[in-house]
Amino acid sequence: MRLEYDPKSLMTSGRPPGPTVTAEEFDAVLDRQGGVCAVCQTRNKAMEIDFYPETNSIRGILCHYCNKARGLVADDPHVLRSMIKYLGENR
Ligand SMILES: [Zn+2]
Repeated sequence: MRLEYDPKSLMTSGRPPGPTVTAEEFDAVLDRQGGVCAVCQTRNKAMEIDFYPETNSIRGILCHYCNKARGLVADDPHVLRSMIKYLGENR
């Protein structure tokens, strides 16, 4: 099943422009992920391409919200682990 998205809306991860990604490459990566965001496992029209900053190769496809969260913590796993701990302890 093809996902519904507007190829013109394909976005990079907020960094300077990454490499050009064709709709076929986008679909192939998304298919490998089961058609959903690599983080939250949902899908919507605002799926975004996340690139490895060092190589500009595709790291994965994320929904807009997960990609935004990734960028807000500057790809820092320590911040994310700390947030998980914080949320777990403050329910
Ligand atoms: Zn997500």
